[in-house]
Amino acid sequence: MNSARSEWEFMDHTAIVRWLLESNPQRLETLWNRADAVRREQFGDAVFLRGLVEVSNTCSRNCLYCGVRAANRQIVRYRMTPDEVFACAKKAVQFGYGTLVLQAGEDPQLDVEQMTTLIRRIRSETPLAITLSLGERTAEELAAWRAAGANRYLLRFETSNRDLYAAIHPQSGKKNPDGTPVEADRLKILHTLRDVGFEVGSGVMIGIPGQRYDDLANDIELFRTLDLDMIGVGPFLASPDTPLAAPSAVLRNISPCFNIPPDEQVPSSAEMTYKVVALARLLCPASNIPATTALATINTAEGRILGLARGANIIMPNLTPLQYRELYTIYPGKAGLHETAEAVNTVIQKQIVASGRTIGIGAGTSHNFLKRNGS
Ligand code: SF4
Repeated sequence: MNSARSEWEFMDHTAIVRWLLESNPQRLETLWNRADAVRREQFGDAVFLRGLVEVSNTCSRNCLYCGVRAANRQIVRYRMTPDEVFACAKKAVQFGYGTLVLQAGEDPQLDVEQMTTLIRRIRSETPLAITLSLGERTAEELAAWRAAGANRYLLRFETSNRDLYAAIHPQSGKKNPDGTPVEADRLKILHTLRDVGFEVGSGVMIGIPGQRYDDLANDIELFRTLDLDMIGVGPFLASPDTPLAAPSAVLRNISPCFNIPPDEQVPSSAEMTYKVVALARLLCPASNIPATTALATINTAEGRILGLARGANIIMPNLTPLQYRELYTIYPGKAGLHETAEAVNTVIQKQIVASGRTIGIGAGTSHNFLKRNGS
């Protein structure tokens, strides 16, 4: 198994593209089985649960596909109070989760002091590990949150194609005191995260308009180059009333990046997402890889379970109170939008056990992180 795994681990660009284009069911079965075997070898059958809290839907950015972009005046904005977030942390403990994920848009009101206080409180009053996903932040903010006890940080680079990235992510316009633009290079921020001691997570969207198979293969190779501790991938889903929800004929006029031949366009399908999950597992065997909510959205019946069977080892059940969850509409039709945390927890735990897997106990620290740090 080990020698066979190495071959897959060092797969080259051409082989990755070939898998992305593969449509033969038997060949794909080989891919799924190999990814599942590597997952089992690395982690056994445990599936670790991370309770997700969507702390704020206020965002200063204007990503062209996102429902909570600053330009969207149609939605009601919210920001949870520290006590509300802490109540979710208590629920995570009650459900047996090992980690709390605090996610938000790029909300300037979630400042360094407020988050530091909240992180310290959760870390000192519960056994939970903390994952943050709060967008592009300064090195000072990131260092302060790591020092306060946050364990992990998620920042997806979304696509390694720089032109495509720029076409769908307008700059923040934030300035340093000397007037220069604030660093917005996500790859540099990922290095900063590692330097300050976080377990580092990143990932991409699959099927962005204008994304070619070569681009997606580059993304997967970049997971390996960055030596990521967590890899989160999901199908591209544009929210209604955002620029990228327009038909492709209209998109072509927005940017030349979107104007590629249809047979070169990566589809935003469940199958393509499973392929990327499986390839990420093979190239980055020791990383934590979630079966994401976006996957469960595109395949409600079995997206999560098929993700788990094809390389994933993490699920992030939503703990956000219902009155806020419906307002965190980063993409349409999100799975579990109207279900209580209790209902989501019951369904997910049953699905995991029914698929022959077990519920992981504890924080589920990335084996990649442990290896890198000599543990
Ligand atoms: S994708 Fe993230 S940063 Fe971009 S608008 Fe949405 S919440 Fe804000």
